[in-house]
Amino acid sequence: MSKFFSSRLSSLEAYVPGEQPKDMAYIKLNTNESPFPPAPAVQRALTEDTVAKLRLYCDPEASRLKAALADSFATDASRIFVSNGSDDILNFAFLAFGEGGVAFPDISYGFYEVFARLHGISAEKIPLAEDFSITPKDYFAKGKMVCIANPNAPTGMALSLEEVEAIVKSNPDSVVLIDEAYVDFGGESCAALTKKYKNLLCVGTFSKSRSMAGARLGFAVADEALIADLERVKYSTNPYNVNSLTQLLGVLTLENQAYYTENCQRIIEARAYATKALEALGFSVLPSSANFIFAKSDRIGGEALYLALKARGVLVRHFEKPRIADYNRITVGTLADMQALVAAVKDILSQ
Ligand code: PMP
Repeated sequence: MSKFFSSRLSSLEAYVPGEQPKDMAYIKLNTNESPFPPAPAVQRALTEDTVAKLRLYCDPEASRLKAALADSFATDASRIFVSNGSDDILNFAFLAFGEGGVAFPDISYGFYEVFARLHGISAEKIPLAEDFSITPKDYFAKGKMVCIANPNAPTGMALSLEEVEAIVKSNPDSVVLIDEAYVDFGGESCAALTKKYKNLLCVGTFSKSRSMAGARLGFAVADEALIADLERVKYSTNPYNVNSLTQLLGVLTLENQAYYTENCQRIIEARAYATKALEALGFSVLPSSANFIFAKSDRIGGEALYLALKARGVLVRHFEKPRIADYNRITVGTLADMQALVAAVKDILSQ
């Protein structure tokens, strides 16, 4: 730390993203990316002509992209926000709506705590139940912002739409942020509920089900007033927050929804295969509605399994938090990826 670093931030512990190793080719099941490339029409869009236009600034209003998203949610563009990945939106939302504090589950996406610290917001971490589920009533009438990943990460477990609505309804005076990064793999989106509740901020991403993690595109659906607040923060930070290539690719992605829906289906099938195969090997696997599974072996510790898999060229994500240290979060790739994972696990257990 330099002597110039703000004392307010001196205890900030930065978020640590999953490894992106360059030493060898891994079967990469550690950052919940899609195993499938973007749709052919998206891949073809990067023509010389498109690249030549990079000399111009991108549209700060992202009008075409917002219109396409608004169409896909049967709503108005004034109720859509877009940014450079959904992390960017979480950051803006904590800054804009977190003044009175924020409540989120003790086991959830690690960035919530980092954003709370970054903005000097007090964080209340609400323990998950013994079975790792979220208890909705723990989030009723909090009197502060509530932030829930649904499905939750790294557990993969989802709340029903009724449960989400009950939480939103009981917090009329604070924002309830529902982070739907993984909703397309079996969750229920609350986007339509934003018409009924002015305090609901529904956040999504193109990084998982839409195969665009590297292009960085996140979006939010909410009441116009909440979106206007986010726009105000955005225009006070970086008006050009979604680059022109990503805006274009985002529109094309939305025009090819059938391709992505089919890929989600393939991932759901590979998830069912991997869950069953690991359970047959003595693992406990939490019921997942996401593109990853959270699994614990009855024969090998979480970190030991992570290291042994890595040595065999399969990368998964291990978290050191005591409550979940026995588990690994395994991204669901193609069926072939999952077969390779299961073969590696069998090999490890037979040693
Ligand atoms: N929310 C959750 C729960 C996540 O796991 C992730 C991925 N790390 C994100 C948000 C952020 O995704 P992105 O910034 O790529 O949209």
